[in-house]
Amino acid sequence: MSDLPQFIPKDGDDVELSGVAVTNVEQADDVLLMSTSEEGLRKKVEGIYRWCSVNFMLFNETKSVVLVFGRSAKKEVFEWGDGGEMAIRDEVTYLGFQLSTRAAARSKLGTGIFRKHYDVKEKAAARIAGAICGVERLTGPLPVAVATRLYMALIDPHLTHGADVVVDNNARAVSKLVEVQKLFIRRTMGLGPRSSANILFTETGLIPLRVRRVCLLLRYILYVLEAPAGLVKSALREAVALDFAGRVSWVTSLRWAVSALPFECTFPDPNGLLRVEEIATLLEEVEGGVGKWLQGRLDANPKLSLLHGRREPDVDGALTVKMPLKLRYYLKVAHPGHRRALTRVLLSEHRYAVEALQWTRPVGRRLCRFCGAKVETVEHLWMWCMKRPELCAARKEFMSDVWRAATAAERARLVELDIDAGAQLVWLLTSRDWVSIVASFAYSIERLVEKVKIPPEPRRRG
Ligand SMILES: [Zn+2]
Repeated sequence: MSDLPQFIPKDGDDVELSGVAVTNVEQADDVLLMSTSEEGLRKKVEGIYRWCSVNFMLFNETKSVVLVFGRSAKKEVFEWGDGGEMAIRDEVTYLGFQLSTRAAARSKLGTGIFRKHYDVKEKAAARIAGAICGVERLTGPLPVAVATRLYMALIDPHLTHGADVVVDNNARAVSKLVEVQKLFIRRTMGLGPRSSANILFTETGLIPLRVRRVCLLLRYILYVLEAPAGLVKSALREAVALDFAGRVSWVTSLRWAVSALPFECTFPDPNGLLRVEEIATLLEEVEGGVGKWLQGRLDANPKLSLLHGRREPDVDGALTVKMPLKLRYYLKVAHPGHRRALTRVLLSEHRYAVEALQWTRPVGRRLCRFCGAKVETVEHLWMWCMKRPELCAARKEFMSDVWRAATAAERARLVELDIDAGAQLVWLLTSRDWVSIVASFAYSIERLVEKVKIPPEPRRRG
């Protein structure tokens, strides 16, 4: 196709990107012609028709369409040559992207061209998430590490499709994609729809979708700046110049998308967007910022006190490394029921009365369903309640299993903590050495709690 440009005439109506006239672009055998006027486009279509004739090919007008941007096309067909006609469409799929001139014309910044693409990708991602869910109906819940790997291999490519060039400037459109991500992680972890969104990422190591999409876009700018991609570089320079001149451009949208992130990042000045170092710095800020932001939200949440101050093992196995995003050890427990029960306890997503009645009764009246004497907290059920024989038996077994698994030093520590039940419980719950024992006890308690309903409160007089 190297002789094609000779057949495409240049004129004053050509699309110019930073002084470079761009008349046609090709992707394999797909040809895209551009012009800012109907007459200009006609000449180019006639040019490609001549090229086809010279190269013994037929120009297929039924497979070709015309899109009109900026204002609505008054006609339904585009006429060219000697009686040739092409359909004028307002929606088309091009290179896997759903493009819409109607949505583009309607959008405030003129950036709605990809609006439908979000809907298409949301549906595709949700369909695959549903298929994985279907597999789980046959196999039982997948290990979290497997589910997150499947997510990255099968769902993430749809949720991030085109994110390197499509700037998220429509909050409603991107939130549909975000919901698919959150729903999948919640289901994988066995959490309810109201659980905090931050823990979905701090506990699995996955990146929140909005941040991930911005990172992909910044990486693409880095690639463009470093690669010999002449036309794309021209497009970037043009977008920067337009933005600098106070016009809305791709750069304006990008600034908006970065400022919409939930943590602060310094957006470079216009020329900085053309420099590798400044884009690399912005990328670092976004990638580093998300961890700090999520950690801050976790530390500020009193319900997640069991996760406060936790550390991950260093090369020697000592717990010294602070990592805001990671697939946590307790999500690697093999038994799905045990794993989910412990997850719910650690993340305060359990159905003990203290949580289950949080919207209906003050804390002091969320009494234990077994003894009715104390508030039904994790500490009460795990350490104290003696009313239910099954609970006492499960606790006895739990403590003796932990004792057997503990080293001499750990046993000494357990005895030492006998005077502080709260601290002892935190240590029992969060130690990695007996995580499967803890998960099994969490499961036994969960099953007992499910069996016995919380009794209604006695009617109070006066
Ligand atoms: Zn009790």
